[in-house]
Amino acid sequence: MSEHDDLHGEVHPRTAVLTRGFDPALSVGSARPAVFRSSTYVFASPEAAERAFAMALGKIHPQPGERADLIYSRISHPNAEILEDQIVPLEPGASQAAVFNSGMAAIMTAFFTFARPHGTIVYTTPLYGGTTGLIHNFLEPFGVKGIPVASGDSAGIAAAIRGAQNCCIVYLETPANPTMTMTDIEQVTEAAARHPDRPVVMVDNTFLGPAFQHPLQLGADLVLYSATKFLSGFSDMVAGVALARNAEMIQTLRSRRVMFGNILQPDECWMLDGRLPTVSLRMNRQSKNAQRVAEALHGHKHLSRVIYPTLFEDAEQIRIFRKQCAYPGALFSIDFKGGKKAAFEFLRHVQIARNAVSLGGVETLTCHPKTTTHSGMTAEELAESGVTDGLVRISVGIEDWRDLLADFEQALAAIG
Ligand SMILES: *Cc1c(COP(=O)(O)O)cnc(C)c1O
Repeated sequence: MSEHDDLHGEVHPRTAVLTRGFDPALSVGSARPAVFRSSTYVFASPEAAERAFAMALGKIHPQPGERADLIYSRISHPNAEILEDQIVPLEPGASQAAVFNSGMAAIMTAFFTFARPHGTIVYTTPLYGGTTGLIHNFLEPFGVKGIPVASGDSAGIAAAIRGAQNCCIVYLETPANPTMTMTDIEQVTEAAARHPDRPVVMVDNTFLGPAFQHPLQLGADLVLYSATKFLSGFSDMVAGVALARNAEMIQTLRSRRVMFGNILQPDECWMLDGRLPTVSLRMNRQSKNAQRVAEALHGHKHLSRVIYPTLFEDAEQIRIFRKQCAYPGALFSIDFKGGKKAAFEFLRHVQIARNAVSLGGVETLTCHPKTTTHSGMTAEELAESGVTDGLVRISVGIEDWRDLLADFEQALAAIG
């Protein structure tokens, strides 16, 4: 804890991310956190060891202001604690965070913590491929029933929740990837709150959070991130985060994390922590760039669609975007009239943007979802979720937008 703790209720998130949760006095005065690579921690006395274990096992609770002594780095370590304290102010409504060694580790731990045998999970489609696989290839064989509903169909999701027996989890990804279809988070959390089983509402907020969309303020219980994307922002590490309003929920996730052994390692925690103060700077620049490029490409003769929130035509989608997103974000998709052949020609000709999966980094990346990230989907699922042969997804970085636009225009011009 730092000496400025008394100010933290009053300062804004962009300040708090730099001031709370790190005490230079605990790191020989260094202005930025050190890396603590130790796997084990020395106790002040045998009594202190006994107390630390009693706390870790939940037999006793810490006194107000007391922090449990560190024991062993699979349980927690200083860089995880610093990161978990410093990330909280970035997610409005959150009281605590838990960090994991990938986004999938955060999602898997949340599922295994709140799923019950013979329970049901209601979820939007399409979801991230790894998450879909986790539901179909792991949860369902273990007796958890999955109920998919098309993203954006708010009435359909509410109805699915109402009809779900033993409903333990409601899981949303909004906007959906790569079609940007938005689901009304608040309508879903209201439907979940009316269900007698009070399912845990989880939102994968990787695409627009933490800068532009705040699910906890809309009634969600748990926000999940692939920190591999915008949070870390340089396409050079893999990490995951869970945040909640209810501190006990995060405590429970941490106790599962001890069993699963999937805490984020000290070096990665240190790296990610250093990226937090620039998350909103990067996301703002990336969103402004994406908007300029997407709007400029709109109506191009080779494209049947440019899919981006400021270009939505559906009244319901426009309503949701205006209600729950502060900015449109860094991702857009373009659909080629010439199908897969034209899409591949475009990918072959882009020079600044690189042909790679993943997103959220400071460099612009572009990929063909149908043959890569979404190739695990059935023909029916692909058609239902609008992943066509000609669709290309673009994650816009912080380059000068005029150079990106020129790059895309020359790649479009190269299509026969
Ligand atoms: C990348 C991603 C994940 C998985 O995260 P990893 O860090 O790769 O494990 C989950 N959800 C979404 C929306 C993602 O983009």
